[in-house]
Formats: sequence, C-alpha cells, structure tokens
Amino acid sequence: MTEEAYGGVYVHLPFCPYICPYCDFAKWPLRRSDARRYLDALHREIAGSVPRPAENVFLGGGTPNAYDADAIVDLLARLQERFPQVDAQREVTIEVNPDAVRPGDMEAYARAGINRLSIGVQSFRESESRALGRRHSNADVERCIREARAAGIRSLSVDLIFALPGQSEASWIESLDAAIASGVDHCSTYGLTIESGTPFERLYARAPERFADEDLEARLYELAMDRLGAAGFEHYEISNFARPGHESRHNANYWRNGSYLGLGVGAASYIAGERCTATRSLTAYMEAIERDEPVPRDCERLEGLARLGEAMMLALRTAQGVDASAFNQRYGIDPFVTYASTIAGFIEVGLLERSDERLRLTRRGRLLANTVCGAFVTLE
Ligand code: SF4
Repeated sequence: MTEEAYGGVYVHLPFCPYICPYCDFAKWPLRRSDARRYLDALHREIAGSVPRPAENVFLGGGTPNAYDADAIVDLLARLQERFPQVDAQREVTIEVNPDAVRPGDMEAYARAGINRLSIGVQSFRESESRALGRRHSNADVERCIREARAAGIRSLSVDLIFALPGQSEASWIESLDAAIASGVDHCSTYGLTIESGTPFERLYARAPERFADEDLEARLYELAMDRLGAAGFEHYEISNFARPGHESRHNANYWRNGSYLGLGVGAASYIAGERCTATRSLTAYMEAIERDEPVPRDCERLEGLARLGEAMMLALRTAQGVDASAFNQRYGIDPFVTYASTIAGFIEVGLLERSDERLRLTRRGRLLANTVCGAFVTLE
C-alpha cells in the first residue's frame, strides 16, 4: 500500500424499498426526492474529500441498489476520480437486495468496475425471510447470482443470519446447503442480534421463547463451521467464510486496523489513529453539506491501551490471529508480555491457543469470541 492511500473507502447509501424489523442500520424508506437530494449531498462530500488513492471501495447500505444502475455508475466514476485505484487488485463491492435487482444492472455494475457482490439473502427458507421482513424469493436470489456470473462479476457473497425466530437446526442446514449449492464464493453468517428500539426488541420482550437460546445459537454456529468447512470454505474470520482467493479485501483492511474513509450519513472513518462517525440524522447530514458546513461527527482518538486493545480484538477475529512480532513492529509492544495474564487465563480454559509467535482463538473460543476479544478492549 502506498503511504498516502486509504485502505478502503466506504460509501453509505441508506434508502430501502422497505424496512426490516430487526434492522439497526442508518436507513430510511425510499422516497425519490430524499434519495436524489442525498445523492447530491454525497457527490459534494466526495468532491470535498482529501483526494488519495484507495485500495478498495465498498458501497453499503441501506440498499444501494435502491438507486438505479445509472446512479451507481456515475457514483463510481466520481469515486474513481477522487480516490483512484492503487493497483489492479482493487476490490469494488456493492451490497444488493435480490428483489431490487433490475434487468441489466449486473452488466452496468461490471462495466463500471464492480467485481464483488454482497447479496442480502439472510435465509433460504422463505418463511424465515418473511419473518425477517424480507420480500425476496429464492428465485430472485438465483436470478441475481446467474446475472452476476453472466456479467463476469468475479466474487459473489451471500449474507445469512442464524438464531432466527422459529429456526431449527434442520432449517439452518437447509440454508447453508442452499448457499453452498448456489455456487457463491463467500458466505457471511451472523447471529441475530436484538437491537434496541427495533420492532424485534418489542417482539422479544413479548415472546422470548420464539427466539433461539444461547445453546441453540452455539449449535447453529458450529453447524456453519462444519458445513461450510466441509464444502471448501475457509473460516477466515469469525463471521466470514470464503473459497480460496475470495476473502473480502475491504473487510480484511478493517481487521488489520487499516485506515478507511467513510462517506455518507452515519459512516465511520479511521484515519491517523482517529475514529470519526458521521451524524445518523439524514437531515443534519444533508443540511450541513448544503450549507457548506462540516458534517457533524463524533470523533475519538484511540491511544495507549485503547488502541492496542482494539488492534488485538480485530486481529483475534481472524483465522491468522495475532502475529506477535508484526504486532511488536507496528505498536512497539510484545502482546505476550503486555497481556500475559489475560492470555494465560484464556489459554488455560481452552479459548485461545498459542503456536510460536501466533495467538489465535480455538474453535471453542470462536463460540465465545465476543467475550474473549472484548476482554482486550476493556483492559486498562
Ligand atoms: S434491507 Fe438491509 S438496511 Fe434495509 S431495512 Fe432491511 S436489513 Fe436494514
């Protein structure tokens, strides 16, 4: 990476054709006038950003393909001009909702340089998708994958969620097997989180028995590891599985604590040790830009143990784990000395393992990753 390059540029496109009851992202129901006004603001934010090359670009949401393909192509041209690619390996990802894909979208994306698609499937059992508020069918997903392949988009990923209301081991296996059979190159699996302020939080308060308990959630996660592993996917990060050569470069940049620029409402940036998150108010975001004022942001500078703990937490999420000598070179400490007692405690109970200079989560440690990784962040 050149010294001045951004590891990644993330662009947030926050509109959705409908709102899912579990969702805590910065998102709004699609209204054409808001979507146009937001895009104008985003163009101005791009034009006013510090120009640097960028290793990777990620269009996330929301539902980025709520915008038509012409708007996406134009957006990518502006991003390419402001943040030119570092090398030919640049990964350019767009998240798509399969039921919003229009004929010709994939060809337009591919021509504009998109080489990775992240498809929001969530479940291949349609009754589970409906419970999540999703409206696509499996036929929509198949069409999306077929058209993306035909257009030559190199890397296809599906998102799946486990521990859904009413989900069983059998229905989860059905989803995993359908993902494998679909021929995609990458699969992200997330345990359902009940986010505060969402309709799912109220549903959970009324009927917690409809949701998976911790034991079932752990068994479902283990099924993902076993099933996807047996099908040739490497479990390269706690929530992510990839066929060889299809690991997400954009996310890898986050996990190695690389720099990234976030553009759009609610987007986070991490540059020169400072993490800033833009306002989650759509109105405040658009009005600031229209008035030529800085977008309101919450910023914190990560220093000392907070910075080290964050780096440990991120590295431990990955299959490679923490490489002590590389960590020492970058941060000037030996993690096996600084975190000696924490590491020893987790090794003793079988959640971490050390081989030579590397520290990794064990299989059991992955089941309790939040506890283990979180312990390094909260140390003072
Ligand atoms: S489509 Fe995605 S971003 Fe939009 S409401 Fe549903 S989960 Fe949230």
